[in-house]
Amino acid sequence: MSAARTESVGDPAGILTEQDHMRDMDRIRMEVLAIATPSPSVARVTARIAPADPSAWMPANLAIRIEVETPPGERPVSRIYTVRRFDPAASTIEVDFVIHEDDSPAMRWLRAARAGDHVWLTGPRQHFVPDHELAKRAAIFADETAIPAVYAILNDWPEGAQGDVWIETDDRAAFDELPRPQGVALNLLLRRPDQPAGSTGALFAAAQAALTDPARHSLWAAGERQEMRHFRDHFRALGMARQDIRVFGYWRRGTSSSEIDRIRLREYSALRQTGARLEDFSDADLPI
Ligand SMILES: Cc1cc2nc3c(=O)[nH]c(=O)nc-3n(C[C@H](O)[C@H](O)[C@H](O)COP(=O)(O)OP(=O)(O)OC[C@H]3O[C@@H](n4cnc5c(N)ncnc54)[C@H](O)[C@@H]3O)c2cc1C
Repeated sequence: MSAARTESVGDPAGILTEQDHMRDMDRIRMEVLAIATPSPSVARVTARIAPADPSAWMPANLAIRIEVETPPGERPVSRIYTVRRFDPAASTIEVDFVIHEDDSPAMRWLRAARAGDHVWLTGPRQHFVPDHELAKRAAIFADETAIPAVYAILNDWPEGAQGDVWIETDDRAAFDELPRPQGVALNLLLRRPDQPAGSTGALFAAAQAALTDPARHSLWAAGERQEMRHFRDHFRALGMARQDIRVFGYWRRGTSSSEIDRIRLREYSALRQTGARLEDFSDADLPI
């Protein structure tokens, strides 16, 4: 069996193509225009899209699923990425792939990708953004996979809103690219090259040290799933209001996203059988 075949996530009942899951998303093709390396850890793909509704691509922090491998006779293998920037005039998107050492579907796609390639994607899906209730400072914690999301969020920062951002990465230049809107303080948690991503707990440690009075903050965090679980458990236990905790696991150290997708599909299927809908699904509560 080839590596690609083990990655495919079967959906025999087709529930992922049903309206409850698709909502306003489209399956469209993107044409790769360029692949750049703006900093050592990042491959930036600029691609042209022809969306039915360009306005759907305007909000900050949109996620897309890119079909990175298509094993014959099986569902394509997809990976979730963030639209770092949408240029409505050129109808282009920028997607930053964090380069990691694994021989994974997204990394194989990236190695082979060339200008002129056409790739299917599904999206966009609005991902979460900080709660900008002006009385509270937004506290934003992100590892390198969420730098594109933070970039989009900072580019769309409302006037008068206050916030603090902590970024963990081993790539100072990726941090330096972030916009610096007024009212926002940015902090770099620079990981040593010998420390694997998702292994340091530095974001969670920074959050514990900085948010001594959680009632004063709204929390936005994205990164490795286990570390994100620590965020949720800790700040819920401290009594932070549920609506002030916007925390999402973007990847799981040592686990392929195909495995996470299989568990997502199993749980979503079970939920649908009870008559519940997508809005009742909690990614945070997945048993992984
Ligand atoms: C809403 C959302 C938005 C996201 N946006 C982005 C984005 O803009 N840019 C981005 O790079 N990622 C983003 N991610 C994370 C990305 O989907 C995962 O990193 C994904 O696992 C990459 O797929 P892969 O095929 O390379 O690795 P997989 O096949 O999923 O995993 C193979 C192995 O690689 C490891 N691995 C996966 N990603 C990393 C990493 N970054 N560093 C070190 N080890 C890793 C896994 O733990 C596993 O051991 C996002 C995820 C979500 C849910």
